[in-house]
Amino acid sequence: MVRIYDISLKINNDTIVYPGNEKISIHQYTSIPINSVNESWIKFGCHTGTHVDAPRHINNNGKMADEISLNTFYGNCKVLDLTDIDLEIHREDLEKFQILKDDIILLKTKNSLRGYKEFRKDFIYVKRDAAEYLIKKKIKTLGVDYLSVKKFGGDNEVHELIINNMTLFEGLDLSNIVPGNYLFIGLPLRLESDGAPARVIIIEN
Ligand SMILES: [Zn+2]
Repeated sequence: MVRIYDISLKINNDTIVYPGNEKISIHQYTSIPINSVNESWIKFGCHTGTHVDAPRHINNNGKMADEISLNTFYGNCKVLDLTDIDLEIHREDLEKFQILKDDIILLKTKNSLRGYKEFRKDFIYVKRDAAEYLIKKKIKTLGVDYLSVKKFGGDNEVHELIINNMTLFEGLDLSNIVPGNYLFIGLPLRLESDGAPARVIIIEN
């Protein structure tokens, strides 16, 4: 039997959001038996929970989430064990792994072990030399296990390098994932926006 892992965050009114983002609101406006059905509306940012960053996020002429190539949402992925790193992911941390063209690379760090209970500014992030290395390797998709790929409050260069050169999934939960090879399927909503929440699963192979 194949094992399928859900590595997306659950979205509810208590899910943490990046500081400055709209709080999540899921509101039920009709209820059985008063009404014939239960129905709710939702209000939250396009970068809520597990999501993709579209090029429009950093560039007024960039592609919207609905225009990102479907090819980057599916394929072989490698979950790299970077749980020994305390703050910054550098090139040499990635060089010990085999990374190939068109790979989908997911970075498992201490962020996954700490969880998403409250927002932490000291999350582990990608440094410029590591971003440049991934671009040189021509990976198609990168996934990180916190709400941002870059240092809290800074390092816009890293953000731009990554988004301009690959598809970026943020907010993955890799806490239950043993590093190794999987099949990746990550489907963001077909939103005409700068980002889109996504359901992401990986399948043992
Ligand atoms: Zn984002």
